[in-house]
Amino acid sequence: MLLRKWASIQDAVSYAELSNAIRQGKISKGQVEQWRNEYSLFMAMNYGPYVGQSVANAATAKMARYGGILHDPMYKAIDRYISRRGRFLVKELTTSQRDAMNSIVRMAAFTDNMTIEELAYAVGPCIGLTERQARAAFDFYRQRHADYYNIYIDSGMGVDLSSSKAAEKALTSQAGYKAKLHKERAYNIASNELAYAYNNGIEEVVRECIIEGKLPGGTRRKWFTSRDERVCKKCGSLDGVIVGMNEKFPGDIDMPPAHNRCRCALDYIYD
Ligand SMILES: [Zn+2]
Repeated sequence: MLLRKWASIQDAVSYAELSNAIRQGKISKGQVEQWRNEYSLFMAMNYGPYVGQSVANAATAKMARYGGILHDPMYKAIDRYISRRGRFLVKELTTSQRDAMNSIVRMAAFTDNMTIEELAYAVGPCIGLTERQARAAFDFYRQRHADYYNIYIDSGMGVDLSSSKAAEKALTSQAGYKAKLHKERAYNIASNELAYAYNNGIEEVVRECIIEGKLPGGTRRKWFTSRDERVCKKCGSLDGVIVGMNEKFPGDIDMPPAHNRCRCALDYIYD
């Protein structure tokens, strides 16, 4: 599923490309193009079927409540949503990926006392992370390298040997930290996408029902939270707010999720 396969994207860049990027201070255009292709493939293979199934399940449950049934033409609305969202995601993921990589490539370029080779190895595990995470993973490596370097220098090892020994130790130690960050990002993407898919998928189906006359034209959208202690202030203030089909909620919010890991949903009401 999305979560498991996410980490494999990081293998997309070779070590030679990374050391080149550090020398030149940025990731090449060709590299970004390659990422885009890999993300597209990843999305087509994982995102579509995964989201399609959950939207269809959610829509069936929801429409049963309104007395309607999910029939074939409604799958078209879901398909449209999936392909639109898929294209958007690929674009967004490649842009954020390029920004994250360029930001740590710049950090690496200004790091002294480590060779390009050592830096390239440290940058590699940051692929697939957000900019904030990538910086944290790279800083983690740098800090560990400095700690080990000092230990080896104090023990009387030469500068070059101390540095390469420290790089080796720092890399092992960074691996555990990086795995945790990857898992965190995959979880965030999966849960956000599920929330987007659920809410957008239902809304596409409701709109289709209005056009087909199965639901009244005056149908309105009502925000509801999970009403427990984990609901944030932003969503708490939206709970129960009703707007028209073509209106936004206060704060220029179209629909949930309003933020990472938002568990809110919409209800569709009519007289
Ligand atoms: Zn929420």
